[in-house]
Amino acid sequence: MSSPSVKGMRDLFGPELDWFQRIEHTAARAFSRHGYREIRTPILEYTEVFKRSVGDSSDIVNKEMYEFLDKGNRSVTMRPENTAGVVRAMVEHKLLGSSDPQLFWYIGPMFRYERMQAGRYRQFWQIGAESFGVASPESDAESLLMLHDFLRELGLKQLVFSINSVGTPESRPAFHAAFRAFFQEREASFCGDCHRRIHENPLRVLDCKVPSCQAALEGHPVITDFLDEGSKRHHDRLKELLTQLAIPFEENPRLVRGLDYYTRTAFELLSSDLGAQSALLGGGRYDGLVKQLGGPDVPAFGWALGLDRLAAVLAKLQGEAKPAAPALLVPLGEAAMARALELARDWWAAGCEVQLETRGGALKKALQTANRTGVKVALILGDGELEQGLVAAKHLETGVQETWRLDEVPSRLKA
Ligand code: AMP
Repeated sequence: MSSPSVKGMRDLFGPELDWFQRIEHTAARAFSRHGYREIRTPILEYTEVFKRSVGDSSDIVNKEMYEFLDKGNRSVTMRPENTAGVVRAMVEHKLLGSSDPQLFWYIGPMFRYERMQAGRYRQFWQIGAESFGVASPESDAESLLMLHDFLRELGLKQLVFSINSVGTPESRPAFHAAFRAFFQEREASFCGDCHRRIHENPLRVLDCKVPSCQAALEGHPVITDFLDEGSKRHHDRLKELLTQLAIPFEENPRLVRGLDYYTRTAFELLSSDLGAQSALLGGGRYDGLVKQLGGPDVPAFGWALGLDRLAAVLAKLQGEAKPAAPALLVPLGEAAMARALELARDWWAAGCEVQLETRGGALKKALQTANRTGVKVALILGDGELEQGLVAAKHLETGVQETWRLDEVPSRLKA
């Protein structure tokens, strides 16, 4: 009996992987233009890296980690996100000692033991960027601009970022007090999880997905009314910069993000193209995290986007990322077959995209395959044509057939 893949983990191939690759290539180009360099960290980290950063009260740490003991009895976890790992690496390699900013981006699989839904997997991919060393709102704007322009380059047009400020650990107690009082007045309307959250981390209540909790939140105290002076200035300046750069945004006072480490700016981008599972990406500022993980007191800003979801949105809006090779070379007869590999090799070297029919024999079968896979032109090479240095070019959409000289095939294909 054959085994399926592990639940929630899937194989990537065909048109979906074509989109993944297009996104990756665009990302690598777009981010290096901004001076970001790639970083690759291990998939496995010691569990405490996530407990100390993502936070004990988060759903990720509470319910969703692939956490196990290795053969040496150490608790390790398959990364549920990558900011913690990147920060761990920055600290370990002492990259944050000087005052120079450090700019990094990453791509890779993440793992969360989540309940299955459309667009939600247990192994999924993220692309992210982290910028260390600068606390200014201009740094937030630079990162958001890079993200915005990257998504525009991929062809996404309806981009409206949701933004909020969650203040600092110093300014938050005043909000917590007001919010707890609000909660107590209507506590019967909130779910069991929210009753736990109000003690552990009240901000999390704002993030609850249960509809009755969202309804009970109507008229809640708004965190931006409780910001300290510095956070308020930061937030106002960021909004000015986004306006100046024509990056569309709206303020969302319930936006808090699922992780514990955010300070000041938090943001998300939702897509209406994916139904209920609509969060495409999220991020924000995390000025305290590096210190919390044993490093120097260095401010930072970053975000992560879901590659699986972005690929699905782009496929829905734009169809296939990459059609099959536009040409198929079909050798008929022994002499033609013998020459076909050499001819195709010359055309490949010239940069042409040509698939070679290696089955031999039946033209009809080859043309049927070509029609099914979206080939535009079939190059039919018979022994007779070969002797004269010619090939028959059949345009599959129109049925029109021409005769091309073999030496002009590369220029014709490129045209
Ligand atoms: P988060 O780290 O939870 O803020 O997630 C950032 C982005 O990763 C989300 O906006 C999603 O696009 C994507 N993402 C998170 N969890 C999953 C999942 N289980 N399956 C697919 N994509 C996910």
